[in-house]
Amino acid sequence: MNQKHLHIREAISHPIFKQVGDIADALSVECYVVGGFVRDYLLRRSLPSDIDFVTVGSGIQLAKEVAKNLKGEPKVSTFKTYGTAMIKYDGLDLEFVGARKESYQRNSRNPIVEDGSLEDDQNRRDFTINAMAICLNKDRFGELVDPFGGVSDLNAKCIRTPLDPDITFSDDPLRMMRAIRFASQLNFEIDLPTLESIKRQCERIDIITKERIVVELNKILLSDRPSIGLGLLKDTGLLKRLIPELTALEGIEEIEGKKHKDNFWHTLEVVDNMAQLSSDLWLRWAALLHDIGKAPTKRFDKKIGWTFHGHEFVGSKMVYRLFRRLKMTLGDPMKRVQKLVLMSSRPIVISEDYVTDSAVRRLIFDAGEDLEGLMTLCVSDITTKNPRKQDRYKRNFEIVKEKIKEVEERDRVRNFQPPVSGELIMKTFDIGPSREIGLLKEALKEAILEGEIPNEFEAAYKLMIKKAEELGLKPVKQ
Ligand code: ATP
Ligand code: MG
Repeated sequence: MNQKHLHIREAISHPIFKQVGDIADALSVECYVVGGFVRDYLLRRSLPSDIDFVTVGSGIQLAKEVAKNLKGEPKVSTFKTYGTAMIKYDGLDLEFVGARKESYQRNSRNPIVEDGSLEDDQNRRDFTINAMAICLNKDRFGELVDPFGGVSDLNAKCIRTPLDPDITFSDDPLRMMRAIRFASQLNFEIDLPTLESIKRQCERIDIITKERIVVELNKILLSDRPSIGLGLLKDTGLLKRLIPELTALEGIEEIEGKKHKDNFWHTLEVVDNMAQLSSDLWLRWAALLHDIGKAPTKRFDKKIGWTFHGHEFVGSKMVYRLFRRLKMTLGDPMKRVQKLVLMSSRPIVISEDYVTDSAVRRLIFDAGEDLEGLMTLCVSDITTKNPRKQDRYKRNFEIVKEKIKEVEERDRVRNFQPPVSGELIMKTFDIGPSREIGLLKEALKEAILEGEIPNEFEAAYKLMIKKAEELGLKPVKQ
C-alpha cells in the first residue's frame, strides 16, 4: 500500500466508515464519502463533523439500514424531494444521498435530477477540490476517486471548476459566491479561467435568494482574512450588485492638491484588523459598514479640504436599509451594528481633545454593553501607514481606555440605572405616570453624567426634591 493510500485510510479510520461500507456491501450498492469531508481531511488532517455519503442507489434506503445497525438506533430525517437523509450520531452529522445527474434550465437554480453514476455525481459538484470521493466498499475501501485532479489543486491552493466554468456558474450562480468563500477561508487562489468566468457571469447572481448569499457573505467575513474574499467580490463585479454602498467608497479624489484616502480599501483593512481581534460576526459586519456613510456625505471645503460630516449618522441609517435588502435579521444584531456605526468616531473624538470625565461617562453610558466592541472597532480603524501618526493614535487610544477604566470603577455608569426609580418618584409626590417623571429622571441622569452629583442615592434624592419643586411638585408626608 502506498503512502497516499495509508493517509486516506487514516481519514476513514472512524468506525462509522466501515459500518456504512458493510451495509452498502450487504445492499450491493457502491458507497463513497465525498465532498467537504475529503477536502477538509486532506487539508487539515482532522475529522470534520459533517460527512457526506453518496451511494449509487438510494441514499434514503442506505441511511435507514445504517441507522438500524448503529448503537441506539438514531433517528433518520429524510427529505424525499431531494432524495437525501440525515442521521445525527456520535457528534457527527451524517448525510446520505443517491448519486445523481443534474441538468439545469436557464432561469432557475432548481435542476432536473435523475439517478446517475458516481461520475455523474462528481460532474455536478462545484470545484475539483470538492469533487473527490473515497470508496467505502470492502474490496475498494480507502480508494480515492479524484477524476479532476483535486489533490493536485489542493497542493497548488487552487479553486477550479471540474467542467467548463461558464456552464458550472450559469447552472448555479451561487457557486460564484462559494468559489470566493473558499478562496477566503482556505487562502486559495481562483484559477484564472474560473475567475474570468465569474466576472462574465456576475449578473446571474440576481437569481439567487438573498438568504443563501448572506450565508456565503458571513462565511467570508468569518474567515481569517476577509479582505481576500471581499476584494474578490469587488474585482468580479459581484459586490457592486450585492452591496453597492461599499463599492461607492472606492477611489481617491483630488482637488487643489488635497486627497482623501480610498475608503473601500481602508474598510477592508479595518475588517482584517477586526478579524485578528474578535470572532464576533456582528463586530465584523460593523467594521465592514462603519464608513458607508462617507460616500453620500463627502464634500470638498476650500479651507479644510475633504469632509464627511455626519457620516456616522447617515451610515447607521443605511445599515437598516442594507440589512433589509439582504433579508438579514432586523433584530438586536442589526441594532448593534447600527449603534457601532453611529458611535464609531466617538472614542477617537474623545482621544483628540482633553479628555473630560463627563465625555467619558457619556461614552460609557451610550455604548452600554457594546463598549468593548466599540473600542475594538476603534483600534481596528487605525490603518495609517505613517508610523508617527500610528504611534500617536495608539497612545491616545490607550489614554481613553485608561480613562474609561478609571471612570467606570468610580462612577459605575455602564448599564446605568438611576439611583432614584420612577416608582419612588411617584410615591414621593403621590402622582401617577406622567411627563414630570420623565423630566425628573432625565435631569438626574444628566446631573450624574455631567458629574454635578455622584451616582448615589442620597445626592440623587436631594436633587430630585429640588428639581420637583421647580416643576411645582411637593413631597407628600409619608
Ligand atoms: P462547508 O461545509 O465548509 O460549507 P462543503 O464543501 O462541505 O463546505 P457543503 O455545502 O456542506 O459544502 O456541501 C457539501 C458538498 O456538496 C460540497 O463539497 C460539494 O461537493 C457539493 N456542493 C455543495 N453545494 C454545491 C453547489 N452549489 N454546487 C455544486 N456542488 C455543491
Ligand atoms: Mg459540509
